[in-house]
Amino acid sequence: MIILGIETSCDETAAALVEDGRRILSSIVASQVDIHHRYGGVVPELASRKHLESIVPVTLEALEDAQIDFSRLDGIAVTQGPGLVGALLVGFSFAKGLARMLKVPWRGVNHLEGHLHSVFLSDAPPPFPFVALLASGGHTSIYYVTGPTCFQLLGQTRDDAAGEAFDKVSKMLGLGYPGGAVLGRLAARGNPEKIKFPRAYLDRDRFDFSFSGLKTAVNQYIKRHGDDLDGRIADIAAGFQEAVVDVLVEKVIRAAETTACRDIAMVGGVAANERLRCRLLHEGTDKKISVHVPPLDFCGDNAAMIAAVGYHYIRRGDLSQMTDDVYSRLKRP
Ligand code: ATP
Ligand code: MG
Ligand code: FE
Repeated sequence: MIILGIETSCDETAAALVEDGRRILSSIVASQVDIHHRYGGVVPELASRKHLESIVPVTLEALEDAQIDFSRLDGIAVTQGPGLVGALLVGFSFAKGLARMLKVPWRGVNHLEGHLHSVFLSDAPPPFPFVALLASGGHTSIYYVTGPTCFQLLGQTRDDAAGEAFDKVSKMLGLGYPGGAVLGRLAARGNPEKIKFPRAYLDRDRFDFSFSGLKTAVNQYIKRHGDDLDGRIADIAAGFQEAVVDVLVEKVIRAAETTACRDIAMVGGVAANERLRCRLLHEGTDKKISVHVPPLDFCGDNAAMIAAVGYHYIRRGDLSQMTDDVYSRLKRP
């Protein structure tokens, strides 16, 4: 089955063609980062307008890349939420109209379920059941996954998401927005032991996270050393990154042990972080747990992961209605 995936939940306009939920035939991601960069964050109305401009060309490019025409589509999957309502509406309305015109089944998909499915786009996806760490710009959660559309939330952040903390600290250090990847590269040149920032393990037997205390500690450190930051930036970045990585790795390993899972998946934009990948792989090997990650390009927002989820719903006839609407806040997973 060939599914067209559409994603417009935030600041990427994306379209992809995926066969049988696994095989990527094409994947186009048009980032709006140049537009929002100067404002230090995503401006919702600008995002919606840009999606409107890009959605048709991006979709046509995905079809062209895969050498597939509309007549070969078996279904359309589109992000329904959570995200920016105006941005979601562009992709959602487009998908509805296209499905109606082509007379193909279509399904609205949860963006986070999409991130979870990005691991099935890798060469070595995990067998069920497994534990998944989702660390993205808006969410940081651990799930127990028992089937393609079956998962249970074990814990989540009480305040900031890990990616959000990376972005905020990057802003404090004057690295610009969005700064997760830049901060990660800078951290590689610093000493992670030099400055010890707090780790919020909270209740060690639970799987909740908190990153706002860490963010505040970095801010205070920067203020204290305001006159003398130049030589310290890489060490601050490394110290901050290490604190985030310690907590994420510890919690997801513990979740795997608690649920007796031998496999961990790590997904979401932060899963692209090199230090985190390296530390989790290492820790996993020690504990005889296999760690599975999506290909680097599929950690951040993309439409292949949306097509990958949609495939499972569409295949069993679990479809959306023409009257369905988007949602901004978390509904599920
Ligand atoms: P959500 O999926 O929760 O709705 P989102 O779609 O904005 O949020 P993603 O696209 O999954 O989030 O991920 C973007 C986040 O990943 C940003 O916060 C970004 O800073 C972070 N990120 C990207 N690359 C890296 C990296 N190498 N190291 C750390 N963080 C990173
Ligand atoms: Mg984005
Ligand atoms: Fe995302």
